[in-house]
Amino acid sequence: MNEYIEKVLKEIEKKDGSEKEFLQAVREVYTALEPVISSHPELEKNAILERMSEPERLISFRVPWVDDNGKINVNRGYRVQFSSLIGPYKGGLRFHPTVNQSIIKFLGFEQIFKNALTGLPIGGAKGGSDFDPKGKSDNEVMRFCQSFMTELYRHIGQDVDVPAGDIGVGAREVGYLFGQYKRIRDAYEGGVLTGKGLSYGGSLVRTEATGYGLIYFMREMLKNNGSNSFEGKTVTISGSGNVAIYACEKALQLGAKVVAMSDSNGCIYDKYGIELQDIKTIKEVKRGRIKDYLNNHKEAVYTEATAENPFPIWSIKTDIALPCATQNEITLEAAKKLVANGVIAIGEGANMPTALEAIEYFHSNGVLLAPAKAANAGGVATSAIEMSQNSMRFYYTFEEVDKKLENIMKNIFYSCKESAEKYGLKNNYVAGANIASFLKLSQAMIEQGVV
Ligand code: NDP
Repeated sequence: MNEYIEKVLKEIEKKDGSEKEFLQAVREVYTALEPVISSHPELEKNAILERMSEPERLISFRVPWVDDNGKINVNRGYRVQFSSLIGPYKGGLRFHPTVNQSIIKFLGFEQIFKNALTGLPIGGAKGGSDFDPKGKSDNEVMRFCQSFMTELYRHIGQDVDVPAGDIGVGAREVGYLFGQYKRIRDAYEGGVLTGKGLSYGGSLVRTEATGYGLIYFMREMLKNNGSNSFEGKTVTISGSGNVAIYACEKALQLGAKVVAMSDSNGCIYDKYGIELQDIKTIKEVKRGRIKDYLNNHKEAVYTEATAENPFPIWSIKTDIALPCATQNEITLEAAKKLVANGVIAIGEGANMPTALEAIEYFHSNGVLLAPAKAANAGGVATSAIEMSQNSMRFYYTFEEVDKKLENIMKNIFYSCKESAEKYGLKNNYVAGANIASFLKLSQAMIEQGVV
């Protein structure tokens, strides 16, 4: 490994050794930069790698709230404002019991590069809390969101930092957060949050954007590798949240057969093809469990997730696998099963869903891999389009936003492909995404001086 990269990785390990997801994310990006770092000595002179992996600001705060039984609960809130190099801090909020500093920092770090790939003026951030919205009443979720925003509001603003949704934060939570922000500020500042409801400043296609964008990226990748896109392909999709549902919808529109989806309790397999409308009713309307799909589909099979095998979905035979749930869901073991079952392509809808060894295994077995920071950038790109509509006080039609999204995803694909090929790494879109975004960011960092 290049000496400079090795030195910086060692320093980060020494400082942040307990933050394993953060270290994993930094290692993935920095090791992919080997050919760039070796041919650009000015990067070391300007301490680019050291500066890129140190957040500009990291905030942690207390979030007290009262549940329906009158009990006082305390959660921890976070916001990491990682980089404002090319625009206001931008990145979602995650509410999930597994949230900690390492998770928030890995997500914030990834977000810098993802946002740079979109070609839009947005910096990198992420935030959230270890609060679990599952099983809470609407009133409890509202009280939590109001308490969370009562601290967060002083750190954000439409030209400063613009949060959005992520796991556990959808339209309901964004609505409560926006309502509280507006009340405290006593002003309508529409661009302070994205993923808003359509009735108060949201953008058409934002709900669909991450899933649709993933499929647009994959379509380009498949076409460029001699495959006829999604027509007639079998697809499995982990998760059944925002990203999974709309990836499924677009894959079906392009002629795929989606045979399996999941949630944290287990996965369903329907050999006739999953009825998406039933999944939407279970997840978006009833907030139920994926197992409920069997109530109307007796022919479907349900496999429970266990501690030893939390993602049984990766044992199912498929042409295309779309991990759309969470980080590190495809382990080396899962990758081996997918390859043995003939998978041809992986599309990362979730952030960092594939372990480093699994990425290497896919590459060495000729499996195409669409990396998260490129393939799931459609969500944040459409968030940036929402911000510009808020500034213009004017809204595009569904078709107009969808067309912009499609073009952005195509451009991202070609910039990954060209950057990989330039450094002799044909078909390595992981390296391509890291190199393309890094070059843009490092140039901005050098031009802005030591800040
Ligand atoms: P949602 O909360 O809408 O859905 C998440 C889905 O993944 C649920 O089905 C959930 O199951 C499952 N899941 C979450 N955590 C785990 C876990 N630890 N083990 C097993 N299953 C799990 O989130 P999104 O769809 O918005 O996000 C999914 C992924 O996509 C995340 O990695 C997120 O960072 C990434 N992403 C999201 C974007 C967006 O625009 N929303 C943009 C870019 C990336 P259950 O309900 O049982 O918990």
